Amino acid sequence: MSRDWNAMAEEDFRAHLRAFIAELCPANLRHLRLRQPPTVTMPWYRALHAAGMIAPGWPAEFGGMALTPERHLVYIEEMEAAGTPWLHDSGVRNLGPAIIAFGTDAQKAEYLPKIAAGEQIWCQGYSEPGAGSDLASLRCAGRIEGDRITITGQKIWTTSAHHATHCFCLVRTAGDGPKQHGITFVLVDMATPGITVRPIRNLGGEDDFCEVFFDGATVGTDCILGAVDDGWKVARSLLGFERIWAGSPRRARRALDELEAMVRTAGLEDEGLWQDRLVQAEFDVLDGQDLYSRFADLVSVDGTIGTEVSALKIHATEAFQRISDWTLEAAGERGTRDDAPLPGQPAPAFTWFESRAPTIFSGANEIHRNILAQRVLGLGKRVAS
Ligand SMILES: Cc1cc2nc3c(=O)[nH]c(=O)nc-3n(C[C@H](O)[C@H](O)[C@H](O)COP(=O)(O)OP(=O)(O)OC[C@H]3O[C@@H](n4cnc5c(N)ncnc54)[C@H](O)[C@@H]3O)c2cc1C
Repeated sequence: MSRDWNAMAEEDFRAHLRAFIAELCPANLRHLRLRQPPTVTMPWYRALHAAGMIAPGWPAEFGGMALTPERHLVYIEEMEAAGTPWLHDSGVRNLGPAIIAFGTDAQKAEYLPKIAAGEQIWCQGYSEPGAGSDLASLRCAGRIEGDRITITGQKIWTTSAHHATHCFCLVRTAGDGPKQHGITFVLVDMATPGITVRPIRNLGGEDDFCEVFFDGATVGTDCILGAVDDGWKVARSLLGFERIWAGSPRRARRALDELEAMVRTAGLEDEGLWQDRLVQAEFDVLDGQDLYSRFADLVSVDGTIGTEVSALKIHATEAFQRISDWTLEAAGERGTRDDAPLPGQPAPAFTWFESRAPTIFSGANEIHRNILAQRVLGLGKRVAS
């Protein structure tokens, strides 16, 4: 029988996590600046899996911890505080809940155990050169013949595609009607002939994301998640889960720790301006935690997360940016030096760089503002005269 993690007292749960991390997460994997290749982080992934602790949000029947939102936050806090490494866990975070919500029994049995065990590493093939913010304009084609679907086209900005064993991607299977119609969600083994992955080097010199080319790559139609032509529904639910993740307050919390340390290091703690900023940053983080708990509460495995989740994504990513802006300013000439502000933490300039991408990925913040304006507040609609 699986363990009831929610029944443990919070302090016991925290103590359990701390002891587990201390024992099984090697020191050389802690507080790393960048996501390391799976070969480096997999031992830690497998240790979490072996202990039934890899999937905090999944229901227990699928091997998850079934944590309540509050417990989930505690889990994240402890992992963050100990500097455990960023895993290649898009399968656990994003795809798993979508399979639980939309998958057939056969798909659940096929994929969920392998995702949890780290046997499959998943990347997300949504964006295309002409379809980012306007994702529904995607053109990568899926041609269905009998029980096979053949994919031809290009994806871009596919994080970790060069490490992934599998890709969940959106393809166009019909061209008529509204553009959200005719999109199909496909689970593709990256070893399928006809797939080429080309890493893209970013300004920071890292190649965490890639271009992926499909040239007649063919998989069975049993790899389609949800209904043919109705993949937009699956994609949107998955984006909801992703936005909860992108809205996690953990980055802003870590940035706040760095800001506090940097203000002290720079001897600015008695200045009114910096005291104000520290208070503002603390409030931002606390607001973010509250908002996160509220949205995490709404996470259910029936695939419905309200469009209001855009507010969470905007708040978390912009708080992270604002706080890292202040840290860089407080750092002055220390900005690019590696010896500050916290032991084992990157130079402030590095965190500043890191804080730029989150306002773009998981949907650019401008798009989230449009969503809030139009779909939540009902603004911008034509008023009948
Ligand atoms: C670090 C990183 C990792 C990523 N990983 C993945 C991944 O794994 N898989 C994947 O599929 N994608 C991934 N992406 C892609 C990401 O989803 C897109 O970059 C994002 O959706 C924006 O699309 P775009 O880059 O085509 O920009 P565009 O859509 O061209 O937008 C450019 C600018 O115009 C603004 N804009 C566009 N339309 C509007 C509008 N209607 N109103 C107001 N402003 C608008 C945008 O906000 C943005 O500022 C990743 C991106 C980053 C930065």
